[in-house]
Amino acid sequence: ALLLGYRLLKGNYKQSVVNPGVMEAANTEPVDLEDLKLLECIGRGRYGSVFRAVSNQRTVAVKVFSGHHHYATERSVYLLPLLRQHDNMAAFMGAEERITSEGRTEYLLVMEYYPLGCLGVYLSRYSPDWPSCCRMLHSATTGLAFLHAELYRGGIQAAVCHRDINSRNILVRGDLSCVLSDFGLSMTLTRTGLPLQGEEEHCAISEAGTLRYMAPEVLEGAVNLRDCESALKQVDVYALGLVYWETFSRCSDLYPTGESVPEYQMVFQEEVGKQPSFQDMQRLVSRDKQRPSFPWKDSSLAVRSLQDTIEECWDHDAEARLTAQCAAQRLADLLAPNTRSPALYNHRNLAEGSKMAAD
Ligand code: ADP
Ligand code: MG
Ligand code: MG
Repeated sequence: ALLLGYRLLKGNYKQSVVNPGVMEAANTEPVDLEDLKLLECIGRGRYGSVFRAVSNQRTVAVKVFSGHHHYATERSVYLLPLLRQHDNMAAFMGAEERITSEGRTEYLLVMEYYPLGCLGVYLSRYSPDWPSCCRMLHSATTGLAFLHAELYRGGIQAAVCHRDINSRNILVRGDLSCVLSDFGLSMTLTRTGLPLQGEEEHCAISEAGTLRYMAPEVLEGAVNLRDCESALKQVDVYALGLVYWETFSRCSDLYPTGESVPEYQMVFQEEVGKQPSFQDMQRLVSRDKQRPSFPWKDSSLAVRSLQDTIEECWDHDAEARLTAQCAAQRLADLLAPNTRSPALYNHRNLAEGSKMAAD
């Protein structure tokens, strides 16, 4: 029905506003928009919906925005010179604006379709082992470190802050490597702290991503605007720490064999439930400085160093947080051969590890 519905809609489209029928610079083979058929809605957010779609027998994902603002922002990030070659960014295939039969303009972003969906949904279904958790998060963190790096982007040295890091904006590939997506709130910043030209209309700096993942300084309205670039990177890393917690909470190797892995929980679900208010989050994260508690009992060296890493990501003091680059290195270390078996319950170094932990 959806397919049919879309075909009808498509038939009624007036001429496209820009580049009729032709997709903009794409990093893979161009997608034929004329042949694009939306099949099923796979995600509905604040500013639009994401569909699984086909174009010339190829499955793609299409994000349909009703407003121009977040579309333009997300598109501008995908169009940054180096971004599209990076392995940990969702693969962008094109963008187009078009007018519906009702005269409304719709904005479309076409990207690769990731059948496993986002990390949050993946974790609600599967409990990955230690190496998989490390690899998934290492790849997502490498993506963030790349965004944060000051590179020449469009002739200007600039860094990008994502500003909506959460487990729904990280997509999972078949091989469990991850990519960052949803750049609708991102900001491209130059050394001077000034956004790139054309970005002035970007969302207010204080307007930030997802409530549950908001850093204390965001909840307090106390983001350091004098060093906007560093401050916004620190906000990203705080949220990343929560994603680490969310992921490792489902790590099968962190619970005794035979004991079931706890069900998937959103971050702070236990503390504030499923629909926290801004005030709830403010009280919890900012006033009471609470963070999710670690649900596992494993106290091996590797697990302790994981906990340290997580705590250094979500530190109350924004300036004390790890950089994304450093967090990526920590995850790589956690995967290194000498620490790859932290799952004391499942490995013979149980006694050894506990002894070391007790020392
Ligand atoms: P919003 O800005 O509305 O949050 P997102 O870009 O985050 O939109 O997409 C919403 C959801 O749709 C994601 O959380 C994810 O579950 C799903 N999704 C988005 N892009 C893809 C994709 N390329 N492949 C598979 N699922 C996707
Ligand atoms: Mg999203
Ligand atoms: Mg978004």
